[in-house]
Amino acid sequence: MAEPLVQFANVDAGYQRVPVLERVSLSIAHGDFVGIVGPSGSGKTTLLRAMLGAADVLAGDIRIGGRTPGHAEARVGYVPQVETVDWHFPVTVEEVVMMGLAARSSLLPWHSRIDRAKAANVMSRLGIAHLRARHIRELSGGQQQRVFLARALVSNPQLLLLDEPTSGVDIKTRDDVLHLLDELNRDGLTIVLTTHELNAVAAHLPWVICVNGGVIAEGSPDDVFTPEILGRTYRA
Ligand code: ADP
Ligand code: MG
Repeated sequence: MAEPLVQFANVDAGYQRVPVLERVSLSIAHGDFVGIVGPSGSGKTTLLRAMLGAADVLAGDIRIGGRTPGHAEARVGYVPQVETVDWHFPVTVEEVVMMGLAARSSLLPWHSRIDRAKAANVMSRLGIAHLRARHIRELSGGQQQRVFLARALVSNPQLLLLDEPTSGVDIKTRDDVLHLLDELNRDGLTIVLTTHELNAVAAHLPWVICVNGGVIAEGSPDDVFTPEILGRTYRA
């Protein structure tokens, strides 16, 4: 059997030694498309941050492609929740996309030419090439989503993490984003997103993980969206 891309073995994760998630064991295979659901404050973002190496691991072990989270060779792209972005930061679309390559930045001029070509490539794939010189603040919600998706994809990740990619956007944008993610997943990219939209988003994904301080249940939406499991997840 192939090694899973993401593996949590009995993980406690949180901040400043306080666990937010406890005893998490899960594995995500190459090519999976997974939704993480749970109420506000249940630890969805923390679970993504643990995969990024941006939350404290207090117990257990996490492997991403056999590496510790945060290792460059783990090759993880991250799209933050749009509500957490500072839109007054004075940067253009192209500059935001180039930030996805900043870890490998170099003063060598041919590197910056290669980087700009990579950015141009991913912007045209996402239909935002014509916006490259625009300020990010001037864009629609859907365009902003694509810019941050481009930033996450420009380094060619093997794992794409998205935090609430459909929250705060209109229905058309939500459907466009989901369609785009579906295409990327069909091309082989492994995707993990969080969402609080059970019917509009999670029910369409092949696999969901219900979270509340830990993993409550996981499986296909048909199997986990039962009154009993949703009751335990949402405590309502
Ligand atoms: P969700 O994404 O499901 O709303 P989060 O993972 O953001 O939940 O938060 C889970 C818990 O962790 C909350 O109680 C929150 O207050 C706490 N938390 C989140 N981020 C931090 C942080 N950077 N430092 C300390 N506590 C945090
Ligand atoms: Mg969150």
